[in-house]
This record gives sequence, structure tokens and C-alpha cells, in this order.
Amino acid sequence: AQRIGVLTSGGDAPGMNAALRAVVLAAEHYGMDVIAFRHGYEGLLNNEHIPLHAADVAHVLQYSGTIIKSARCPRFKEDDSAKLAADNLNNLNISALIVIGGDGSFRGAHHLSNYWSGQIIGVPGTIDNDLFGTDATIGYSTAVAIAMDALDKIRDTADAMDRVFIVEVMGRHAGFIGLKSAMASGAERMILPELQKDKPLTVAALVKHIKRVEAVRGPGSYVMVLSEHQWPGGAVALSEQLEAEYDMPCRPCLLGHIQRGGPPTASDRVLASELGVHAVELILKGETGVMTGLKAGQLVAVPLIDTWTKKNPLDENLLRIQHEIFNPVKKPSRS
Ligand code: ATP
Repeated sequence: AQRIGVLTSGGDAPGMNAALRAVVLAAEHYGMDVIAFRHGYEGLLNNEHIPLHAADVAHVLQYSGTIIKSARCPRFKEDDSAKLAADNLNNLNISALIVIGGDGSFRGAHHLSNYWSGQIIGVPGTIDNDLFGTDATIGYSTAVAIAMDALDKIRDTADAMDRVFIVEVMGRHAGFIGLKSAMASGAERMILPELQKDKPLTVAALVKHIKRVEAVRGPGSYVMVLSEHQWPGGAVALSEQLEAEYDMPCRPCLLGHIQRGGPPTASDRVLASELGVHAVELILKGETGVMTGLKAGQLVAVPLIDTWTKKNPLDENLLRIQHEIFNPVKKPSRS
């Protein structure tokens, strides 16, 4: 039987297990054997592998994390690593490798393809949604749902005290999680990398906006969603600055890795199942060097290189709507 390899690499994302399950079940359906490498590329270099059967993935789709473990493996960038990986794959008689991960993992897959002639298929597994060629990545929906849930909870306490909160969300260098969670939770403001380029945040502008919202709406809570890497020192430093420079009580909240845990949303489970099965179908079609994606409801194969050299923009409609929501104008008082 044809043997295929699979690994999960880079930051873990909710739904990776669901994707893995789909790969194993589809492979069994088509009479292929699956070998999983544990700890991403690290396991590929160390020959740390296990066979995976349907029974091993029977009840994993409802859990985040990854049962075959993930890791970052800096030495994989070296040529000798790719050569060693190729040798290991050939020695195991593996003819195709499925890589579940983000853009770094796909760069690694591309690097491997310079030394290995087997088929390589990527499955987009990252909470950041920062891969070109697919409308959503596996884990993004869950991260947004978790951030929204946390922002709702922050709102309760913020409202009780009429307080300003700065909530830092993940996203690497993309604002997808920030935009969706801010919108879904009715935040007063969001700071996203894509918007920072034109108009970088200043503390003075932030204070001005807080005061404007208060003037139009009256006293109350003000919740700001801050994408990571958008302020030196993050939410903690920014809220300290607000307090110190403007005497404005402010509380920071870092959601951090909470955004990667708990049960994956239905959308992530379904997306992961579709893309996992599609990855196996692409192998059967003889494809290589592509990522499976879902674009406007259609399963597509995107060249791996495109996934990190091109960029999905933020949704223009959502940005426009947010801009209108964020900029209240005081109505002239009627007498
Ligand atoms: P996420 O963005 O969700 O954290 P990711 O896949 O982008 O996921 P990275 O840590 O960037 O996570 O990459 C995962 C692994 O891919 C790296 O640890 C490394 O082993 C490999 N990798 C990344 N970039 C390259 C590269 N240029 N060449 C070879 N291998 C790479």
C-alpha cells in the first residue's frame, strides 16, 4: 500500500486534530498507510514516527492541541536538515507528506521539496488566518470565538466600573483575529497591524477618542482590542502610559494562549475535515507543492509559495463598518 507521512508544525491551532483525523480516515478509505511524525520537523529529523490508524483518531476532533505534538525546529532551515529529512522519508518508503501548519511550516515544506521528490501537500493550520489562498485557516474561527467570549466577560466588569480596558489578542502580523473579535464583541476601538501602517497609534489620539466616545455616549466602559506587536510592551505598557501620562484608569488583559485551547468551533471542525480529506485527494491526483484551501465555498489547491508571498487583505466592508461604528458623532441637541 502507498505510504503517506503527516506532521503538525509551528504554533498549534484548534482543529489540527480534526484535520489529522480526516487525513487518516481518508487515507484508510483509499487504502493508504499513514505514518505520523511527532513534534513537527523535529520528529522528521529524529525519526520519531508512529503509524496512525482510524482507532487512534476516533475521538480527537473535539480537542484542541495536537495528539502528535507540534514544535518549532529552527535547524530545519539548514540544507543538511532537508537532506536528512529526505533520507528519512525515503528509508521509510513514504511517497507523500502532509504538513499541517502555518506559513513557516510551508516555507519548511518548500525547503524540503528542494531535496525530496515525494509529494508535499500543506493544510492551513494556524489561528492567525494569515495564509493567502484560503478564506479561513483551521483554528481562526475558534480563536475569534474565544476572544469574543473573553471580551464579553471583560465588558461586564469594565461596565460596572466605567473603566477603560486594553485587551491584547494574537494574530502574528495580521489583524484578522483583532478585527473579527472587536466587531463581534462591540469593542469601542481596535488597533490592527494593517491600519497602523497608515495611522500609527499615539497615546494622545487614544485619549482623544476615549473622551469623544464618552462625550457622545455618556460615561461607561471603553474596551479596546489591541493586536499583538502593535505597541512596545503591549497592552500592559500602553495602559501604564495612559494612567501615568493622562491619569486615566486603565486595565490591561492579555488573552495569550487561552486563544488556542478548548473545544474547536463547529466551523473549524468542519473546515479541518474538508481540508484534511482534500489533502489526501490531492495526493491521489498527483499534486505536489500546494496547500489545500477553501475559497468561496470551493476546495482549491494553492501553490505553497503563494501562501506566504501573497497576502489576504482584511475585509474592506468590515473595516468600513467598524470605522463608522468607532466614530460616533454628537447629534445636535433638539429643543
Ligand atoms: P504559526 O504562524 O501558527 O505559529 P508557523 O508554521 O508559521 O505557524 P513557524 O514557527 O514560523 O510556525 O514555523 C514552523 C517551523 O517551520 C519552524 O520551526 C521551522 O522548523 C520551519 N521553517 C520556518 N521557516 C522556514 C524556512 N524559511 N526554511 C525552512 N524551514 C522553515
